[in-house]
Amino acid sequence: MTAYITVEDPFWCRTQPAGDGHLDWTGYRNEKGTASFHWRHTGYSALRIAYRIRTGQDPVGYAHATCEHPGCVAPDHVADSATTPRRAHHAGTITRQPNGSDDQVKALIGEGLSDKQVGKRLRTSPKRVAAIRAELGLPSGANRPLTFNDRWAANTEPVDGGHIRWTGRLRDGTNPAVLHEGHDASPRRIVFERLHGRPAVGRVQPGCGYGPCVRAEHLEDQPMRDNYHAIFGSAA
Ligand SMILES: [Zn+2]
Ligand SMILES: [Zn+2]
Repeated sequence: MTAYITVEDPFWCRTQPAGDGHLDWTGYRNEKGTASFHWRHTGYSALRIAYRIRTGQDPVGYAHATCEHPGCVAPDHVADSATTPRRAHHAGTITRQPNGSDDQVKALIGEGLSDKQVGKRLRTSPKRVAAIRAELGLPSGANRPLTFNDRWAANTEPVDGGHIRWTGRLRDGTNPAVLHEGHDASPRRIVFERLHGRPAVGRVQPGCGYGPCVRAEHLEDQPMRDNYHAIFGSAA
């Protein structure tokens, strides 16, 4: 696990310069599109941290971007709604300029959002999202919500040795996370339960020696680890 020194470090790690002083958020966005992240078991709004970076204090109202770059989190472009009025909400939604990088579109598709939802969030054309979705070989999300299997296919890749690596979103920088039935869930727990026919108890961790592994057959929960130690002893 990477050791971050202050809450500003995980913020910067999830940003990418977008030209003209704007800053794109490459991290997680919640259902409402709010850029956020977890650090030391606490959730933070990226815009609030951006405001804190610039001013050294928390905003009294909401932190909001004052520039025209969609989703900008540049500290220099973030103001406090208590002192600076927010921009009109509909500005920018009338003209649908292609916005958001392909990677951002892919990330949101992986989160299970529909073409329309991705288009709205990144202010880009749903047709462009559909084209990127087709490139990924994913079924059109037009009329049906993505299933867990779709998300699994979009967020995993095989690794030498029979392991499977999670390429999707991580919670707290380490734990694979996926949107499942409207909640933030652990893909490890989901595939564990499918394989064993019972919910996992305690932490679910790979027992295969490959830390990032999410392959169901390689995962162990606490009773399995206890069993192993009972048979082979704790020195095993
Ligand atoms: Zn900006
Ligand atoms: Zn493995």
